[in-house]
Amino acid sequence: MDKVILNANVFKRGKFYADHGVVIKNDKIIAVAPSKELKTLKQVSIIDVQGDYLVPGFIDLHTHGLGTFRMDNGKDSIEQISSYLPQFGTTGFLPTIVPHLPSEEERFFQEIVESRSIGANILGFFLEGPFISKTGAINPKTLVNQTRSRARAMRELLKPYRVVFAISPEFPGIDEIMQEMEKPIFITHTQANVKESLAAIANGACHATHFYDVFFSPKETDPGVRPCGAVEVILADPSVSVDFIVDGEHVDPIAVKLALACKPLGKVCLITDANIGAGLPPGIYSGFGNEEVEFTYRGGPARGTMSSMYPGSLHGSGLTMDQAVRNVVAFGIGSLETAISMASTNPANVLGIYGKKGDIDIGFDADIVRLTPDLSVKSAWISGDEYHLKHAEFQAL
Ligand SMILES: [Zn+2]
Repeated sequence: MDKVILNANVFKRGKFYADHGVVIKNDKIIAVAPSKELKTLKQVSIIDVQGDYLVPGFIDLHTHGLGTFRMDNGKDSIEQISSYLPQFGTTGFLPTIVPHLPSEEERFFQEIVESRSIGANILGFFLEGPFISKTGAINPKTLVNQTRSRARAMRELLKPYRVVFAISPEFPGIDEIMQEMEKPIFITHTQANVKESLAAIANGACHATHFYDVFFSPKETDPGVRPCGAVEVILADPSVSVDFIVDGEHVDPIAVKLALACKPLGKVCLITDANIGAGLPPGIYSGFGNEEVEFTYRGGPARGTMSSMYPGSLHGSGLTMDQAVRNVVAFGIGSLETAISMASTNPANVLGIYGKKGDIDIGFDADIVRLTPDLSVKSAWISGDEYHLKHAEFQAL
């Protein structure tokens, strides 16, 4: 039976429509119209959301973990994360993998390629390394064997999933290696100069992830002359999209506003870069190698503890996408419309899947999130099926 969600404030193509409803047939949206026009439909199941917002499901392009799970621990963890993400409004994601030791990589990729979407859709994998120049929180011991044939093997092993690679424009031989990569290619972990950054974009890089974080300025050569590098090249090119970790610490809200002022709205996205412990109360979390991270408040950044490789430094965040959306509004970065575009529509565009995902309109997949007036997630539909919220700290995992 078709489902009709009535009395909603529906987000469609960048705007909200009050007193509207959405009709879902199987896994697709087949109509968006004023509630009064839909009330007369016969033989449908009706859901009255009493004025709440309906927004397209969030798409997280960069996330390492959730709850007690970390993508790098394999298929079971990825599937658990998929099952828990929709309670935070995320209906699609790229499980993000840091480099594993080359000797273990083949077996590990053979395992994760079997991962199924239990809840949120696995839209491909994001490989944050090894083709990067600056480590950030990545173990430098894993940044070895950075060859073109490794890139090809990584992509082959993860078929039929899409593989999104991270690159640093100054990485030696990167233009050759990029020939093994499909679009989009994400720039990150870099201290590239202007020439190197322009070359990477000319060769197919089209997005910058956790923008400004681990984007170092090149060295000053003339005292007093501010050096320009990847940041300036990316801001100056309206075709290059960017994403941000809006947790209030990874990036100053003013820097996000700068990107919004430089670029079309459609080119600015939200990510979580979430680590193990995200979505849970503040505390110390471990469970991936020797890494141990601490969150001092819910949704705040993850920082390495004294026993970690980089004590006190940033190790991704405790964000969830719904919190990132609330932060955009609370920090004065943009309106709710802007925040939803950044969380849903724009990442769908980055992946080239807008038209299928990223909006509430006829023909789109019925990946829909119900938000209360205070922007907390009340329920979600994935491919038209209602998702039952878990929370209560994920029902004890
Ligand atoms: Zn990351």
